[in-house]
Amino acid sequence: MKVILILSMLSVCLSAKAQFHTVARHQPVCRIDTKKALSPVGKVSNPNKESVSTAGKSTAHEHSEWVRRYMSVSYPLKRITVTSPYGYRTDPFSKKRSRHNGIDLRAKGEEAYAMLSGVVGRVGQDKRSGKFVTLRHGGYTVSYCHLSQVLVRQGTSVMPGEVIAITGNTGRSTGPHLHLTCKYKNHCVDPDILLQFIRETKNEAVTQLGVLE
Ligand SMILES: [Zn+2]
Repeated sequence: MKVILILSMLSVCLSAKAQFHTVARHQPVCRIDTKKALSPVGKVSNPNKESVSTAGKSTAHEHSEWVRRYMSVSYPLKRITVTSPYGYRTDPFSKKRSRHNGIDLRAKGEEAYAMLSGVVGRVGQDKRSGKFVTLRHGGYTVSYCHLSQVLVRQGTSVMPGEVIAITGNTGRSTGPHLHLTCKYKNHCVDPDILLQFIRETKNEAVTQLGVLE
């Protein structure tokens, strides 16, 4: 499941620019309450690893490709600390067991970044999410909630690493933090899948750049 989602993410991430990857689009099935979704994932092999080798092309070209790959993803905050994972938990308000449809990250008035290239789907405010912004990345949407300020307008494009908001404590929130919700074709998925994809993409690029040095 996670492997499929990550491969699909890779496809979303890179399809727009017709990169050197060829990943078939998969149809992940979302199950909200899975212990698996919370467990650490084993090594995810990248079937495109071979296709990254740019046979016959210069080292400088390979270097720039790996730099571009590194820059194609961004963590949503400078420092990532998950304070409440995805799945069932005791609701901090009702004290009842209920589903947490995203993850909470430690953040106090910090810049929040777009994780992939995409489009601003929605900017809004409601009692639950407070000020929020939803970004569309292919079939995925990512919502950033409880913000103090949204810095992008609906319909505009965003680049990975672009500052899209300042985190806050608006809406149904017990303290300053960033709540992230991730959906794939309108089904909630664990945003940790996305964080892991970002981590793996960056790590692989760093490793490859080290080989080229
Ligand atoms: Zn939350």
